Amino acid sequence: MRAMVMDRVGGPLEVREVPDPVPPAGGVVVRVHATGLCRSDWHAWAGHEDVVLPHVPGHELAGVVSAVGTGVARWSAGDRVTVPFTCGCGRCGWCLSGNAQVCPDQQQPGFTYWGSFAQYVALPAADVNLVRIPAEVSFEAAAALGCRFATAYRALAGRARLASGEWLTVIGAGGVGLSVVMIARALGASVIAVDRNPEALEAASALGASHTLASDGTDSSDVASRVHEITDGGSHVAVDALGSEGACTDSIMSLRRHGRHVQIGLQPPALGNPRLPMARVIAWELDLLGTHGMAAVDYPPMLALIQGGILRPQQLIGRVISLDEAASLLPRFDRARLAGMTMIDPRRP
Ligand SMILES: [Zn+2]
Ligand SMILES: [Zn+2]
Repeated sequence: MRAMVMDRVGGPLEVREVPDPVPPAGGVVVRVHATGLCRSDWHAWAGHEDVVLPHVPGHELAGVVSAVGTGVARWSAGDRVTVPFTCGCGRCGWCLSGNAQVCPDQQQPGFTYWGSFAQYVALPAADVNLVRIPAEVSFEAAAALGCRFATAYRALAGRARLASGEWLTVIGAGGVGLSVVMIARALGASVIAVDRNPEALEAASALGASHTLASDGTDSSDVASRVHEITDGGSHVAVDALGSEGACTDSIMSLRRHGRHVQIGLQPPALGNPRLPMARVIAWELDLLGTHGMAAVDYPPMLALIQGGILRPQQLIGRVISLDEAASLLPRFDRARLAGMTMIDPRRP
């Protein structure tokens, strides 16, 4: 098959022929129809995550089952499927209690083994991890769910328990930030979106953000005081959808008393642990919440909102490109000013 191969950290990415994957016991192989390019792929390329070289990135995917391993009960060739980027082992107490997203033995395509920037990808523990794509949901929209959209959904609905009528502030209006905007509006919240990229802020407005704030991430842009003014005392929920010390601090400082901060953006230990305003966390009794993808068992309520047309992840897709185009884009993905999500179709020549 053709795949995008990373031979060294921070080096050029090459699309070339590699051996086809075979389905593991309990797992399947999927022919990839759509796979999203995400900031996490850039982190792995830049050496902020441990990957075994040579490596194939790609963790947000949708496609069609092409081969089925031994012991798989629920899936057969031809099924349209997607998968959370956190694939549980299917056997431990966390997986059995519906929390595969924090499974200690989880696998992540594109991080712990070869991922979906390829024509085919193997997926483990299919009966626990695979999600059937409803007929009315496209492969591109389904691929958007696996990492950023599902993570945003769980962050707001599952972790922060965002309620109708509350204020939500999101720092960073990239793929996951725009997902946060869309889901927060669907849950009845009012949204303030913060980003340095005017196109990203326009996209956030189009998706229903009532206020947008331009910020270059420095103290002088003073995001928190502007949010406090708009919301008359601070946001009920705030999200760092970027992953930096500054974004996390802006999120925490934007909150009102008893507010809830959710950390979605990665803060790789290789970049150093962030210094955070813990005095404010203590004095205002703020909640700091982590979130890590979403288990397959939690997909049905989100899929119901998509089938009902209330959530439209397809609106987040800015462009669809080939593997070759993606290979040249990924190394500059942290600097590329792209509004919306970038999808790869590995079937394109
Ligand atoms: Zn991702
Ligand atoms: Zn497990």
